[in-house]
Amino acid sequence: MVASSVLGFPRIGANREIKKVVEAYWAGKVSAEEVTKVSAEVKKTNWTELKQRGVDFIPSGDFSLYDHVLDHSAAFNAIPKRYQGQGLNALDTYFAMARGHQANGVDVPAGEMKKWFDSNYHFLVPELDVSTEFKLNYNKALEEYKEAKALGVTTRPVVLGPITFLALAKATKEAKEGFQPISLLPKLLPVYKQLLTELKSAGVEWVQLDEPILITDLGAGFESQYASAYPELVSVAPKILLTTFYGRLETNVNFLAKLPIAGLHIDLDRAPQQLDAAVAAVNSTSIVLSLGVVSGRSIWKTDFAAALKLVEKAVSALGQDRVLVSTASTLLHIPVTLANENKLTEEQKDWFSFALEKASEVATIAAAASGSQDSKVASAIEANRASIAKRRDFEKNSDDSIRKRVSSIKPEDYERKNPFATRREAQKSLNLPKFPTTTIGSFPQTKEIRQARAKLGKGELSESEYDEFIKKEIESAVKFQERIGLDLLVHGEPERNDMVQYFGERLNGFVFTQNAWVQSYGSRYVRPPIVVSDVSRKGPITVQWSKYAQSLTKKPMKGMLTGPVTILNWSFPRVDISRELQAQQLALALRDEVVDLEAAGIKAIQVDEPAIREGLPLRRADWDAYLGWAGNTFKLSTAGVKDETQTHSHFCYSDFDDIFPQIQRLDADVISIEASKSDLKLINTFKRYGYSNSIGPGVYDVHSPRVPGDAEIQERLKAMLTHLDSTLLFVNPDCGLKTRGWKETEASLINLVNAARWARENH
Ligand code: GLN
Ligand code: ZN
Repeated sequence: MVASSVLGFPRIGANREIKKVVEAYWAGKVSAEEVTKVSAEVKKTNWTELKQRGVDFIPSGDFSLYDHVLDHSAAFNAIPKRYQGQGLNALDTYFAMARGHQANGVDVPAGEMKKWFDSNYHFLVPELDVSTEFKLNYNKALEEYKEAKALGVTTRPVVLGPITFLALAKATKEAKEGFQPISLLPKLLPVYKQLLTELKSAGVEWVQLDEPILITDLGAGFESQYASAYPELVSVAPKILLTTFYGRLETNVNFLAKLPIAGLHIDLDRAPQQLDAAVAAVNSTSIVLSLGVVSGRSIWKTDFAAALKLVEKAVSALGQDRVLVSTASTLLHIPVTLANENKLTEEQKDWFSFALEKASEVATIAAAASGSQDSKVASAIEANRASIAKRRDFEKNSDDSIRKRVSSIKPEDYERKNPFATRREAQKSLNLPKFPTTTIGSFPQTKEIRQARAKLGKGELSESEYDEFIKKEIESAVKFQERIGLDLLVHGEPERNDMVQYFGERLNGFVFTQNAWVQSYGSRYVRPPIVVSDVSRKGPITVQWSKYAQSLTKKPMKGMLTGPVTILNWSFPRVDISRELQAQQLALALRDEVVDLEAAGIKAIQVDEPAIREGLPLRRADWDAYLGWAGNTFKLSTAGVKDETQTHSHFCYSDFDDIFPQIQRLDADVISIEASKSDLKLINTFKRYGYSNSIGPGVYDVHSPRVPGDAEIQERLKAMLTHLDSTLLFVNPDCGLKTRGWKETEASLINLVNAARWARENH
């Protein structure tokens, strides 16, 4: 029989239960027991739903209150010294690592967050050095296995694999130059062995070890570590399913097939072409091949016929018992269920499938591949055939005027008329001082703002009442910025529910969900819009707000847009046409918006592209193609303006080393980047490459409520000034302030302005 499997499930709850309870705990409103209770309910629902849907291998141990990599660090005692001896209990230490802690005399910043592979999920980077004493503080996989078992559900515990864990880690500040976390593998293995031994004694049959690092270019370099570590683990463990996802293994499959593992999982959603090589590699072994044929990254219904073709190919070579039908990756990246969507049309609902529906898909495909005679299976297959056919029909609709506009884009449409040096002169009309201070765009999205938006949604507030409310918010944001002395102002983005959704709602081609949340980091969830057809602008999007904000002040107002690549990467894209074509359509819409903002008197316009890097393919061989079109679409969206108009862009990350020439090629007049936690490595990169345009490396971290002192910001500026041309430097936070409260925002920005004043006096 071909069994079905799910590699991981969203842990936020169908109604965002975990966000609610965790945030209430942070606010001191509920106890730790309440958090445990709500978590148990969410896990129970997930497990029982998967069981009811007929999934054979159900994950456990993949639940998390914040991040699964952080869970792993905490469980393995990889807790940086700054969090120890602070008098915090285990749960509060965990949250301190996640988001910093500033209360009762304790003041520690959060750990560094990074994007998880090529997704919009962020993990907390483990910090290791030779003094790290790994030990098993708790065995989450075992606890959850037992928890599920008590509910009558047998699960396959999920554990982050040792090599991926070390590969994702970074050295602590105290570590010796040249220290490589992977060198700790011999010290780490005994703890894994303890964990796995405990699972085996509890009767666990299969354990899933996630090793996604294998689909990156780094993977091949770890061949010897895999060869030495896994035989040791296998000797004490339940049957190991080693999973790889988000991409292709390439030749790594050959050394993996030599490991004494019981199963290997490959992603056939992202890389269907790797099936043959994988089958060939495991053919003469007894390894079970788990086929990821149901996407964990896209919300489109799986085409059963196409999936079955792949499955049948594997079955004919390996036999039914050596093939699993699985989700391609964890389902963490997609919403919980379509059942909570009441506003999608029936036609639209029929196109999609979210996590629970994908679980049913694996069960059905597995049953069909097993030759099931069940009439329910036959009718599910037939229903799928019919709905895929209907979708193909719909996909034939295209907007010819947009397609034509895209195909007539000329090379000069990508370029500003003059080089930066000339534009810089023209932009003196903005009258910015040296070390201009600015912010990334958003100000706190307060309870009042969210309530007003909710009331508008329910019809309790009319459009015009809501607009008045937003105007007041803008006015107070402008006054605040003038009062504390910021130089380049923003309107604060109060009108935006989300930086992508807001634009999607004002463009043709998108559909929206009510409840389709996915975790971005910690308790921060996003609700990505879905691109379903050709994209175009319905009319001006932000112009009225920017214009209004500018009318309130003599200082320059920066217009604020989300870039084409980011809109695309943070939406669920179409899978029937290329991402490039979708991004081009978006870029043309944004270009029109940029030109309209300029015409409305806005002299600085920021087009945020925080997601360009996360969209970078996981294999270097694919980079040039991606960076080519992605960079071009950004340029296309911004190049339509005069020299006098200052274009800005913002990136939420700090890894530029390997994509630097592409950042320069974007040719934004000013870029702001995340820098407060990257130990100047990043600034070095800009210096080394001789970046020629203006740059605002963030001077403090916005992901934590902690307030940076003036001296701390001054130190950052001082360090930056040793590396960068002072006349090109902007002073700004790392990112937007929407998730922060006003109290810390005010205090932090006042300190930021003071630090810039200090720089003006001293440099
Ligand atoms: N302008 C956006 C904001 O300030 C940018 C956010 C982002 O890049 N993630 O919120
Ligand atoms: Zn950002």
